[in-house]
Amino acid sequence: ECKNKIEKKEEEINAFISLDLERSIEKAKEIDKKIKEGKDVGKLAGLPIAVKDSITTSNFKTTCGSKMLEGYHPPYDSTVVSKIKEEDGIVIGKANCDEFCMGSSTETSYFGSTRNPVDEERVPGGSSGGSAASVKYGANPLALGSDTGGSVRCPASFCGVYGLKPTYGQVSRYGLIAYASSLDQIGPIANSIEGISLLFNVISGSNDMDSTKVEEERGGSQIELSLNDLNIGIPKEFYGEGVDEEVEEKVKENLDQLRDKGAKLKEISIPSMEYALSAYYIVAMSEASSNLARFDGIRYGFKQKMNDNWEKVFSQVRKTGFGEEVRRRIMLGTYALSTGYYEKYYEKALKVRTLLKRDFEKAFKEVDFIITPTMPFRAFEIDEKIEDPLSLYMADILTVPVNMAGLPSLSVPCETNGLPIGLQIIGDSFEEDRIIELARKIK
Ligand code: GLN
Repeated sequence: ECKNKIEKKEEEINAFISLDLERSIEKAKEIDKKIKEGKDVGKLAGLPIAVKDSITTSNFKTTCGSKMLEGYHPPYDSTVVSKIKEEDGIVIGKANCDEFCMGSSTETSYFGSTRNPVDEERVPGGSSGGSAASVKYGANPLALGSDTGGSVRCPASFCGVYGLKPTYGQVSRYGLIAYASSLDQIGPIANSIEGISLLFNVISGSNDMDSTKVEEERGGSQIELSLNDLNIGIPKEFYGEGVDEEVEEKVKENLDQLRDKGAKLKEISIPSMEYALSAYYIVAMSEASSNLARFDGIRYGFKQKMNDNWEKVFSQVRKTGFGEEVRRRIMLGTYALSTGYYEKYYEKALKVRTLLKRDFEKAFKEVDFIITPTMPFRAFEIDEKIEDPLSLYMADILTVPVNMAGLPSLSVPCETNGLPIGLQIIGDSFEEDRIIELARKIK
């Protein structure tokens, strides 16, 4: 069934950078045989899964949407992919994404834009746009994305599927190509809340290859959640100016329904929200400028035949290997970290980060969950914003505070007619299971 959908839709949508249907079907047959013989199979037995191309796989090249890594074939699987394989999931291909995960529309990919399956003139969101689009058009029921400032939740919202950004440290980053390491987190995208729960349970948990992993093991047991006991926070800074009226209305409709079923709604405030977006971009670009220094054409990156000195080779490789947005960010990040500006920009951004953490900590003393729109608007048209980087950065206003505070959050589709709208449930650290339970009550 998935193969048929892919054959029908993939050429138009361009959700994949690599795809191996033949091997995937072979694998599915093997698992099918095992089931028929009554043998034990894993939790993901036979399920087709797309993996964002920022996550390493030993049997697919991994490009991160960049010419820089066009021919890169990793010698190892990331931890999340090993876990999927152990549970008999089938990685069918690598999903398209913004170059080095920098973007909110999947238009900066070296391998061309992905189209939104709901309206092909529109972007699927980003940077995990290929992952969300593949789920939406039925290539696979499950996918993996990575979320540094909204890249799982934004495309989930624009394509009308579910997307979870786990607590920082909950899922191993081993094998995830680093963008901003203190914010990056891998998360599941699915067409159902059951899919999110299933894939999240498989990929989460400790791993010795990631120094920022959390030690605590998850319970994994079913959680009971009664709406009558719940306080839901509505942070006023996430509504109003800059948020599309229809988006706000739709989210509020859902909030009213939760209230009618017994939940208490409470207006709260995240005062440091005002500085969240600027601080996020300083932190993300600074870390990116350092992380991307490894792509020098010698250790990583495509090789050019040049008989020049190292400096010339280095700049030539980076000039041709990176696209415009990536180069812009490396330059801005380098600037923010340089002597004299470090205190002015980077240190200040870290202070805002601490304030954001405190504001959320305070909020979670008063409420159990926070609900906001995921994105301030619906999917925009292809080419509409790509020439105006600032307006694209603004799109991330509601998702980045969550990464800065390291919290988990889930985007839930809440508009079933026409262009999708996403509602974001933010929970306290390690409360993914409770967020998932609340989402079950919304659908
Ligand atoms: N759009 C944001 C950025 O460009 C978030 C990207 C992400 O989460 N990878 O930085």
